[in-house]
Amino acid sequence: MSLPTQARIVIVGGGIAGCSTAYHLSLMGERDVLLLEQGKLTCGTTWHAAGLVGQMRPNRNMTAMSQYGIALYSKLEAETGLATGWKQCGSVNVAATKERMQVYAKQAALARSFGVEIDVISAQRAGELYPLLRTDDLEGGLWIPGDGKANPTDLTMSLAKGARNRGVKVVEDVEVTGVLIDKGRVTGVRTAQGDVQCEILVNCAGQWARQFGRLAGVNVPLYSAEHFYIVTDRIEGVHPMLPVMRDPDGCIYYKEEVGGLVMGGFEPQAKPWAMDPIPSTFQFQLLGEDWDQFEPLMTNAIHRTPCLETAKVKMLLNGPESFTPDGNFILGEAPELRNYFVAAGFNSAGIANSGGAGRLIAEWVIGGEAPSDLWDVDIRRFAPFTANRKALSERTGETLGLHYAMRWPRQELATARPLRTSPLYDLLADKGAVFGAKNGWERANYFKPAGAHPAEYGLGRPQWLDWVIEEQRATRETVALYDQTSFSKLLLQGRDALAVLQRLCANEIDIAAGAMVYTALLNERGGFESDLTVIRQAAERFLIVTGSAQATRDTDWITRHIGPDEHAHLTDVSAMFSVLSVMGPKARELLARVGSPNSADELSPESLKFSHTREIDVGFARVRAARMSYVGGPGFELYVPIEMARHVYLALHEAGAELGLRDAGYYALDALRIEAGRRAWGAELGPDETPFEAGLSYAVKLTKPTPFIGKAALLKAQGQPLRKKLVTIVLDSPAPYAWGGEALLLDGTPVGELASVGWSPKANACVALAYVRGDAAQRVHAGTPVEIDLWGEVVGATAWDRWPPKP
Ligand SMILES: Cc1cc2nc3c(=O)[nH]c(=O)nc-3n(C[C@H](O)[C@H](O)[C@H](O)COP(=O)(O)OP(=O)(O)OC[C@H]3O[C@@H](n4cnc5c(N)ncnc54)[C@H](O)[C@@H]3O)c2cc1C
Repeated sequence: MSLPTQARIVIVGGGIAGCSTAYHLSLMGERDVLLLEQGKLTCGTTWHAAGLVGQMRPNRNMTAMSQYGIALYSKLEAETGLATGWKQCGSVNVAATKERMQVYAKQAALARSFGVEIDVISAQRAGELYPLLRTDDLEGGLWIPGDGKANPTDLTMSLAKGARNRGVKVVEDVEVTGVLIDKGRVTGVRTAQGDVQCEILVNCAGQWARQFGRLAGVNVPLYSAEHFYIVTDRIEGVHPMLPVMRDPDGCIYYKEEVGGLVMGGFEPQAKPWAMDPIPSTFQFQLLGEDWDQFEPLMTNAIHRTPCLETAKVKMLLNGPESFTPDGNFILGEAPELRNYFVAAGFNSAGIANSGGAGRLIAEWVIGGEAPSDLWDVDIRRFAPFTANRKALSERTGETLGLHYAMRWPRQELATARPLRTSPLYDLLADKGAVFGAKNGWERANYFKPAGAHPAEYGLGRPQWLDWVIEEQRATRETVALYDQTSFSKLLLQGRDALAVLQRLCANEIDIAAGAMVYTALLNERGGFESDLTVIRQAAERFLIVTGSAQATRDTDWITRHIGPDEHAHLTDVSAMFSVLSVMGPKARELLARVGSPNSADELSPESLKFSHTREIDVGFARVRAARMSYVGGPGFELYVPIEMARHVYLALHEAGAELGLRDAGYYALDALRIEAGRRAWGAELGPDETPFEAGLSYAVKLTKPTPFIGKAALLKAQGQPLRKKLVTIVLDSPAPYAWGGEALLLDGTPVGELASVGWSPKANACVALAYVRGDAAQRVHAGTPVEIDLWGEVVGATAWDRWPPKP
């Protein structure tokens, strides 16, 4: 087919992601779609994939995505007449450790509540389902009858045919070499065969997506790693409906192919492929065999399936696949360039995920907004620094292995750190801080006593808990100091800054200079795009303080809603200010001691009202003190010019020793805010939750004169029964320790899952925030007994609208 000179939507890349995107765009009525492939369809990574297709995903929306993919794969052949190789053979996942079994039990409970058919099975049953297995050292496993396998090339060709049937043009042997841009928008693409004008571009360029993104200044942080499997000759007892089998403790998986086995895996230390740029001529190509790299997997496989000892290995396939810094794929409209979408970086699960991801990106393209909460895979979770190639290479060595590694609660990644550090980093490290990383920022999670080792990961009551309880106690009884420098801080200035914020924020923003307000950025569905605090510094100047992970996302949301004629300019000033939070009943006294003679008066409740700020002296520094508290109880956030943060910190400690001042970290902060019922974006709040469902109606001013985004949806929902509602859950006994993500049961039936969990000394038990979904939202009230499926055991708990309940 010759190259058209224009198309409404151009898709770059003819692997499974590009073909699924084309298929779904056409299914949704888009006819003017052009897919360009530099080689032939599937010639990149897709052609050599193993083809395992599973459904288990960590959350509701991602699971729904993969379930949709399976439903599509099972009916595609009937629609297009092209075989897909789809076989619903089921999958068996085995566990060699008790901890893995506990994790399986949790995943099974959650998957069931998402509607996936799944059984926790014994080792013996696993052996029955998969007779090649050695089971004597297994604890058990999972059986997921709806999982399956497909032939990646056939599946992709079938998707392409479905797209073509509805008018999509597919042109092969056309490399896109440039992106045409005008006024911050895509206007076309450049190829050796000529330019093609377009309104929308979708980058589905697989492992080329990063270098292709760079052509237009778009950051697509992914990096390739060598990825292996063997293919054996026929093996007795291996038949087409033999289930897929995964042994994550051995880092390996199996699939039947032509009467033999495909066995591959995810070695803990992967081998990044340092090819940069990746040539466009890398088509239907593989990399050289590397038996040394594959040997640990082979050894594990011979142990798990002894038939492999004598089976004839036909080939060791080594093909590059791209991985991302957090192991999740990348979807959405790029924050750098309007109408430039990305669907790439599939972390070795592109065959399983592309069916659903193609639909999601098509909905995003057509609707102009993410169709649901897709934060896990949203391109805006990555800040510009994630383009660094050394960091990407090191991280890829780690994230490939995470695929099957035992994932512990609150496990931190180890590579490419430390990167973004507060001026207090070394001081806190010397005091025993154990850091975690958020959006590149190193943040103290907790402080260990001198001489102690950092806590080991585990599933039960954590080793760090007693240390964190001391930090919580200081916050509630004396005073504690939190370094929250990682907060994202955005300055919006200009004549129209107020008008812009009034339109974007659900709360009243026309507040006095010096005041602050907690508010939501809502989407048209009334869901939280973000929650943040706005400090009005002057009539036309607003400091927006938002979560550490949300800088890119919120910047994108705000700037895309500033009209071309509006005078409002947003600047990321995160690195200009440290935030030191002084929390606890002695916070005021501490600030008075470290300030000037009149500081005590300046900070009195009469002079500095709640939700107000003022400039104060701390040591020799001037800082802005905000009277507010995320942890509950009295406290002040200090906004400190970053070059004075060290001085302020030392001054506070010098004056605070007598008062019992203690450094505290994010584990304490999280537990305290949960105890106090404070919600966190990304946990309890997201694009699928409205303020009514989240119990945050107080942060919405439906009566304010300016209409705001999401208002119409809220007015419609007002007075209607809630589809879900946030409650506080208090475990009945101090013994069980929950982490979040556990299924919540009412009368034995799943009705939701725990979002955040923390230890509450006041309750002497774990306290959680959780959504109760569907009809159950009407049946759960203050004091309703509920249950939690904790690692496969059911434990009792009680639901509250707020906790502690009002007497
Ligand atoms: C060994 C191995 C085993 C795997 N097993 C599985 C599995 O069992 N299950 C599973 O779900 N996934 C598996 N995967 C992963 C899966 O193969 C990938 O995630 C998936 O194929 C990625 O599809 P894609 O469309 O994003 O990329 P690709 O298939 O690479 O497609 C991208 C296309 O873009 C084209 N392109 C790039 N730049 C340009 C340009 N400038 N102009 C025009 N065209 C361009 C390329 O030529 C390429 O064809 C495996 C991967 C490997 C390596």
